[in-house]
Formats: sequence, C-alpha cells, structure tokens
Amino acid sequence: HKAANIGLCQDTRATTEQVLDPRTRLILFKLLQRNAFAKLEGCLSTGKEANVYYALSGDGLRDIEATKDIPTNAPLAVKVYKTSILVFRDRRRYVDGEHRFEKGYTSGKNPRKMVQLWAEKELRNYKRLHAHGVRAPRPLLLKGHVLVMEFVGSQGWPAPRLHDASLSPDEMEDAYVQTCVALRAMFSRCKLVHGDFSEYNLLWFENEIVVIDVSQSVEWDHPRATEFLRKDCANVRDFFSRKCERVLSVKALYDFVMRDGVADDEGIRSALDIARNSDSVTDQEDRVFMDAFLPRSLQDLGSWPEAAQRAVASGDNETGFDEAVGDLLGANVCSDDDASAATRSESDEDDGVHGRLP
Ligand code: ADP
Ligand code: MG
Repeated sequence: HKAANIGLCQDTRATTEQVLDPRTRLILFKLLQRNAFAKLEGCLSTGKEANVYYALSGDGLRDIEATKDIPTNAPLAVKVYKTSILVFRDRRRYVDGEHRFEKGYTSGKNPRKMVQLWAEKELRNYKRLHAHGVRAPRPLLLKGHVLVMEFVGSQGWPAPRLHDASLSPDEMEDAYVQTCVALRAMFSRCKLVHGDFSEYNLLWFENEIVVIDVSQSVEWDHPRATEFLRKDCANVRDFFSRKCERVLSVKALYDFVMRDGVADDEGIRSALDIARNSDSVTDQEDRVFMDAFLPRSLQDLGSWPEAAQRAVASGDNETGFDEAVGDLLGANVCSDDDASAATRSESDEDDGVHGRLP
C-alpha cells in the first residue's frame, strides 16, 4: 500500500490497545506540537514489537543541531515500540550481557522503561551503522519509545523488503554480494552482530541493500554474539541459495565475516570473491557446524579477530563482557597473557577497536 493513503493501520484494535496508549499519544502529540513532523500519515507496518508510521517533517527539526539539515516535508519513518511485556520478555537474551543496557533493564522491570531501552539501543546501533558507512536509515530523533528516522523509499512508497522485491538474476547476484559485504562491515567496522539479519530486515532501494531493524543487535563481544552471527549467516544462506549460484556455506560465510583483515567495501568484495571460489564446505558439514560449540569466552577466543580479542581482554569495552566471563571462569580470567593483551591494546589505540558513542 502507499503509506500516505492508508490513514489507519489495518489492525486498529491492536494499535489502540498496544501502541497508541495515552503515553504514546502524548509523545506523538508533543512531537507534532514541536513541529518535528508536520503530518503523521499512514502506517507502514504493524509488527509484533513495533508499528512504523509514515510522516512528513515539519520545520521544528531545523531547530535541532543534529537535524538542522532536514528540509520541511521530508519523508520520515516513525517507529513506535510496543509496550507489551510478553514480547519483551523474549528479547531478554539480547540485553543480558550488554551491561550498558542491563542496568536500566533489570532495575526498572517496567515495560515502559524496557521499550525505551530498545528504542535507545536501536538509535545507538543505527548511528553506528551510519558512522561506518553501512547503508541504513539515518536516525533523527528519539523521544521515549518513539524513534524518528529517515524514510527509505520514494513518494510515499516504502522500499520493498528483500523478501518482497522482484529482482532480476543479475540484481539478485548484486544483492547477495551487498548483503555479505554489509554483514561483514557490520561486524568488523561497527563491532555489531545484527541478531535478526534476514530478507525481512533488508530493504532493496535504488539498487542497494539497506539494513533495518537493529534494536536487538549486540556488541561483537556479547556472550551470545557468535551464536547470533551463525544464525544470521544461516538466514543469508537459506534465502540466497534459492536465488543465486555459488552461495557461501553457512560456515564459510561465518568465517568470512569473522576473519581479520581489510574492512573497506572494496576489500570485502574481493575477499568474498576468493571465499566463494574456494568454499568446499558440504551441506552435511554445515549441519554439523550449526550444532557445534562456538567460542563464547576468553578461553575460546582463538578464532576471533585480533581486535575483538583485544577489546575483550582489555576490559575497555562497553559491555562488561569481561565481568560476565569472569563469573564463568573464575580465577582464569586474568592470566598473564590477558594482562599483556590489555597493555598492548592501550598502546595500539584505535587499531580497529571502536570507541564509545555519545
Ligand atoms: P519490526 O521490529 O516490526 O520488524 P522493523 O524495523 O523491521 O520493525 O520495521 C518494520 C517494517 O517497517 C519494515 O519491514 C519496513 O517495511 C518498514 N520500515 C521500517 N523502517 C523503515 C524506514 N526507515 N523506511 C521505510 N520503511 C521502513
Ligand atoms: Mg523487522
């Protein structure tokens, strides 16, 4: 549907009951009052965890430093997270291990605080994608559990999800390469694992893959990052193996994403080409890989990129993963090797280790 013509979400009952609660209405009302958007129009999507609306910017955005370049009447996407407790209980596994977010999450036990945290996480992750040149909607404004971002699409028509887009074989091949590049760039440059990377959370717009839905994405040293990454790789394999030739096995894609080395798009493209030509993993081996133990702790970090190992070992990361591992391993955490790794990382400043976001 053309968003601007809809006016109301199809599932109006769910909307009024779960999303447009009085607090949400108040936030939207304030945003309208401040002229952040001139009009809140149709609904782009009603999901289990959020509804996304189409809006046009007002001149209020120009008063804010970060968004002063946004012209009036620019198309926006407004993501409103749902406050249903049932849904968010399931999402706990993504927050556990993220210390920055864990505190607010557990201390509150308040659904409103929890959804706010998801919105904050999505804002942080979108910002990071942007900062590192991975194509994604530009986040503009966060108010409570309402995230305002750039609209991906033209003239009110949202870009299709990869799942719904009709691509020629050549375009599909291009989409596959872009998807692998994005997955690796997210890991190596943004230090993030998407956590729900699939044809449903990739848009196809102006011949480019656009990554969306990053509220559940975790830092690369999250205790379950490797497990989430393996699933992300499996989703890519499942979708593209039905559409393209020479698609990497799950294991080869996972290794490709994790490998240390060049992280610019061109470098990634040529590395991908080599990987596709030399992938010899069988389906049987892939099935074994899906069930295999993956490195999750300091002791198992042998196969992690060096920069990730240093980030974890130095303890100078945002997630406090070292503490989590400390609980698991007891006295083994601060071995001499780790101590020297920590010293190394201080002098090796900014050698691929991402700094804190404001
Ligand atoms: P959910 O958690 O509900 O899956 P998503 O972030 O994936 O939330 O958004 C749901 C849908 O809304 C997407 O599949 C896409 O069609 C649409 N959408 C989300 N963000 C944008 C955007 N910035 N521009 C255009 N459409 C968007
Ligand atoms: Mg989604």
